[in-house]
Amino acid sequence: MIFEVIERSLRQPNRVIPVEALLGNCDGSRMPDVIASQLTPAISQKLVEVCPTAAFRIEECDGWACLKLSYGECIGCGKCFEPGEGAVVAAKSFTLCGNPKDQLVRVWDLERRTEIAPLRPEPGVVREQIHRLLGKALNVRQLDAGSCNGCEAEIAALTNPYYDLERFGIHFVASPKHADMLLVTGPVTRNMAEAVRATYEAVPAPKLVVAVGACGCSGGIFAGSHAVVGAVDAVIPVDGYVPGCPPTPAMLVTGILKVLRRRIAK
Ligand code: SF4
Ligand code: SF4
Repeated sequence: MIFEVIERSLRQPNRVIPVEALLGNCDGSRMPDVIASQLTPAISQKLVEVCPTAAFRIEECDGWACLKLSYGECIGCGKCFEPGEGAVVAAKSFTLCGNPKDQLVRVWDLERRTEIAPLRPEPGVVREQIHRLLGKALNVRQLDAGSCNGCEAEIAALTNPYYDLERFGIHFVASPKHADMLLVTGPVTRNMAEAVRATYEAVPAPKLVVAVGACGCSGGIFAGSHAVVGAVDAVIPVDGYVPGCPPTPAMLVTGILKVLRRRIAK
């Protein structure tokens, strides 16, 4: 019986998602993208008014009015799509995952209807680069600092046969003492702040920290609550941020690999 099951599963076609389809993909995340040519000052004003987390802002940049979108604060609620009148659509690809915090913001010149410093897709990272950096696989410890568990559900999906995180040489470990990277979710609650600091101290150097989700990046929908200290970087140093509420597995992989690549480049 067991041999029949194994034989049948071996005959099934391989369903793992190709690397090219994985990196930079954000399908299903509800992250907004802005079509600069459709943007007007009136639409921009509506976006600022409907956004519940103030992720959209109108500011003056070098004498021009510009629209800013801070992805670290975006919870992917989709409320900006309808008032965007075609200028805001669901993003199909997202290359900011794993960026430092100041590089999670996109800016559009409202006068010229162009993006200032537009997104540039970056090439993928391969297993050899991880080995060159660490001399071994990358061991990741996931740490819940107060999340709703939405981010954990997406992180758990990374290990299934479809996303197959292990093909990159990345493994989840149970102890921070065995980890190279901390993947921290949630806003840091007051109850968890000390545990987050202690976990960070337990990870041997050189250590990497990735803040996951709108909560990890900015506090998300819990920002300002009396029960939270704030984003992950309010408590420990962070190397890269993966926005989204929650980020999809593809966004998580893209972010983890980008943080690694930046460390390699250093
Ligand atoms: S999807 Fe993001 S940017 Fe749009 S309204 Fe919601 S939080 Fe604001
Ligand atoms: S970012 Fe969204 S899914 Fe993740 S912990 Fe916060 S509320 Fe939950």
